[in-house]
Amino acid sequence: MGLEPFFGRLRSAIDDARRDGLYKDEIILGSPQQARVDILSGEIEPSLINMCSNNYLGLANNPKLVAAARESLLVDGFGMASVRFICGSHAVHKQLERRISQFLQTDDTILFSSCFDANAGVFEALLDEEDVVISDALNHASIIDGIRLCKARRLRYRNNDMADLERALKEAAGARTVLIATDGVFSMDGIVADLRSICDLAHRYGALVLVDDSHAVGVIGPGGRGTPALFDVQEQVQIVTGTLGKALGGASGGYVSGRNEIITWLRQRARPYLFSNALMPAICSASLAAIDLAEAGDQFRDHLSRQTARLRGGLSQLGLKLGGSSHPIVPVLCGEPLLAVELTSHLRSNGILAVPFSFPVVPQGQARVRMQVSASHTLQDIDDVLAVMEQFPNLDELRDVA
Ligand SMILES: *Cc1c(COP(=O)(O)O)cnc(C)c1O
Repeated sequence: MGLEPFFGRLRSAIDDARRDGLYKDEIILGSPQQARVDILSGEIEPSLINMCSNNYLGLANNPKLVAAARESLLVDGFGMASVRFICGSHAVHKQLERRISQFLQTDDTILFSSCFDANAGVFEALLDEEDVVISDALNHASIIDGIRLCKARRLRYRNNDMADLERALKEAAGARTVLIATDGVFSMDGIVADLRSICDLAHRYGALVLVDDSHAVGVIGPGGRGTPALFDVQEQVQIVTGTLGKALGGASGGYVSGRNEIITWLRQRARPYLFSNALMPAICSASLAAIDLAEAGDQFRDHLSRQTARLRGGLSQLGLKLGGSSHPIVPVLCGEPLLAVELTSHLRSNGILAVPFSFPVVPQGQARVRMQVSASHTLQDIDDVLAVMEQFPNLDELRDVA
């Protein structure tokens, strides 16, 4: 016996996940991340239209980023082999922190290895038992985990529901500090947070606002500055977290940006900053190039919104239920996980890469195929996707999704 029951339990959980269509298989790319990718897993499939990356501006394999990273490798070296506060802070980290602050029009910025780490560190460093965090029910897993790591009392409100947020704010009355935490764009639904109303309520009840703008930075708002700029509430958002792993080149890295006191304190207390290695300098150098391109990237964003409108319009015409309304995240709602699996196999055998999302990534019974448009897609790519969707044998079942 010994450890056999433990391993047996894992094997049966894995079998159950396979049976229920919940098993997540890795798709192995044999090409750079771009509009069309080669797949090496299973049968080799060349040149699939990639409809599931976060490469919104098409910068993941941009020659300027590649050149900046290569140059930096030669000049700055490969790794830092230290956390930031010991001897892992390179000039390029400071340069990138200043650049992000300038881009987002904030006081200061602190880099993390990922936005997951940024969210894991930010709550615990700023709040304790005397405080309350109020969190949107659809917030990203890293916000949920970050809140779990801090001792503040937790309240939740229904997704983007301002009446329910106000109920929570009333419930939080008397706390020393109240912080409202929201995604700028909800990643599974492509819904943009109602940040103007959130900031109005925060102002009325004396609460801080934290926005995780991972799916928004580079993508929406004037100059790609994200949701605070889109709603013109930059002054009312004290904390922005975000990633370098999506529109801004897609390598890795995250940040917290905002008020001076906050960022200065995070450098003293944020655990992922204190206990995890510094970002590779080459990533910082390429991210600097990415921000330059994103800031001046209205042509990317215009193209992206045209393509997105075309995809959303075409899918709606087919009678399909979509999540969100304008963001390049375009979720096709499927309900049952097996229908989402069938849809992605149909797409896949017709040259289109998309993946099914099911529990626990989305709630039970709300499986979906999330498509994501990139500025690197051509009009023809989008039309090809629509033509293949129209040929899906179970289209009627999809139309019936509640
Ligand atoms: C992707 C994402 C993250 C995680 O970012 P990484 O840098 O990949 O860790 C955090 N929050 C939100 C809202 C995201 O969409």
